[in-house]
Amino acid sequence: MSSINEVCSKCGSSEFTEATDYMPVKPNKMSLKGSNKIYTFCLHCGEVHSIRIEDVTIFKK
Ligand SMILES: [Zn+2]
Repeated sequence: MSSINEVCSKCGSSEFTEATDYMPVKPNKMSLKGSNKIYTFCLHCGEVHSIRIEDVTIFKK
């Protein structure tokens, strides 16, 4: 749970929550390292507000 000072563009709710699908995003196919995607979505209608990568440091060269 986190507080976001924004409202849903679909239903106007300000209740959001975060979740991950535990499918890592990887720099490339061979990479052993991966990072989870964090979805922030509306608790009322399910509209996805944002998708964030949990750990971006593995993508830095
Ligand atoms: Zn909504």
